Amino acid sequence: MALRKTFLDGFTISLQNRLTLTYTLFISAALALLALAINLFTGITFNALVKENISVKNAEIVRVMTELYNPMAQSFDSGAVEDFGMYFVHEGYIVSVEDIRGEIIWDARSCDMRQCRDVIADISSRMERQFRVDGGMRKQRYTAQYNGKAVGAVIIESYAPFFYSEAESEFLSLINHLLLAAGVLLCVLSAAVSIALARGIALPVNLAGEAARSIAQIHSGGVILKHGGVRIPEKYKTRELAGLSSSINQLAMELEEAERWQKQLTADIAHELRTPLTCLRGNIEAMVDGVFTPDRERLLACYEETIRLNNLAEDLNTLSGLELGNIPYGMSKNLNKSVFDIAKLLQTVAGQFSAAVSEKGVDLHLRLRESPVSADYDRLKQVFINVLSNAVKYTDQGSISISVEAVDKDRLPGAPSGIRWEVIIADTGIGIPECDIPHIFERFYRTDKSRSRSTGGAGIGLAISAAIVKAHGGEIFAESAESGGSVFHILI
Ligand code: ADP
Repeated sequence: MALRKTFLDGFTISLQNRLTLTYTLFISAALALLALAINLFTGITFNALVKENISVKNAEIVRVMTELYNPMAQSFDSGAVEDFGMYFVHEGYIVSVEDIRGEIIWDARSCDMRQCRDVIADISSRMERQFRVDGGMRKQRYTAQYNGKAVGAVIIESYAPFFYSEAESEFLSLINHLLLAAGVLLCVLSAAVSIALARGIALPVNLAGEAARSIAQIHSGGVILKHGGVRIPEKYKTRELAGLSSSINQLAMELEEAERWQKQLTADIAHELRTPLTCLRGNIEAMVDGVFTPDRERLLACYEETIRLNNLAEDLNTLSGLELGNIPYGMSKNLNKSVFDIAKLLQTVAGQFSAAVSEKGVDLHLRLRESPVSADYDRLKQVFINVLSNAVKYTDQGSISISVEAVDKDRLPGAPSGIRWEVIIADTGIGIPECDIPHIFERFYRTDKSRSRSTGGAGIGLAISAAIVKAHGGEIFAESAESGGSVFHILI
């Protein structure tokens, strides 16, 4: 089915922009709602206050006009009524006063029609255009009472349902402008805060991405930086961001270590190949040039070098096979397990070395006990051969002892219950310097290169042994014997 392409395909937005946009929209919406609520609340309260003021004003007008009633003349003081009446017109109230017979004493419209029309037009336009209040002029009639007796009526015409005086409308406009200015200011502030917040989150994520890209480039190009490669500063207070930075840094460190290790291995292998090859080449060239006669001795020397090369290749093959399939605690698929007695295996291995040991005049002591185990017989045999051959190689006088003991369970916490034997191979040979002990199980590590060269080792035997023991879920370690010499512990 053909996929339809939309204009959104390939459209991406950066994390920082997305966060900024989200924060800004969210904060602006919250601010708008808040402003609306404030506006609504102040509007309702203010209008109630204005309506209250209008009723109070009406009552005041009636009181003032009633006070202008002269009981002697049984009429209102028309001069004073006019003065007050015109004053009320300026405030937006069109007043007229009638006597008890209903005759008009004074009427604002008749007195100054133009003034009244201007005031009404002014209020109507202010309320309708500026404040969107849909109203109109409304008349209210009040009885004027003197000493509890009706003496006339006061008619007040004003804009209904309510109207703002000039001062009130100015106050309201000021409030609205202030709210608008505060809103704009808060929007700008919220945008700035959003940008800062988004940057705070997006920056480390971007840095992590860039670092991961640089790490990938460096490793695909095979470049190793001498003084540490790409690193992200781990200064972030947010737990997830700090975790992300430290994971990337950890990854970078492990990749660098693996690469260094690989380069070291290649260099070591090249070095180990060079020695026998140089020897072979020298011998063969000399024989071709007629410098050496190709007698049995020369050919044997060449043959020994090919054997050394072959052994090296086999050792490397075994090691890589073990390290590739290595799964902790004896789960390795590369193991061919069977149940056998470790003691019997050690006896067999010791037998292989009896001739070499007696030739060197070294004593070999065995302290064995029945020790059944489920393990790979051939692989374990290889471990014992490697460790024992070293003991024989590096011991010229004294003794070598081999023993099996039951392991105290606490010594291998977390190991499956089957692991319970400790094989100890101790010698009184030249021993291993303390500083070398942590490294002797590394590939190609030799405590003294020249010395080992004379004993023919490439420094792989213990690395293979460690890989086999680890594949069985066990442990192997060495220590210096108090009497000199070395002690190897193999826990299976
Ligand atoms: P090699 O094949 O060189 O012996 P190994 O991996 O078996 O390599 O051992 C690594 C190094 O540990 C040896 O080169 C040697 O320096 C040191 N070593 C191992 N076993 C003994 C021992 N019993 N006494 C002294 N040194 C030892």
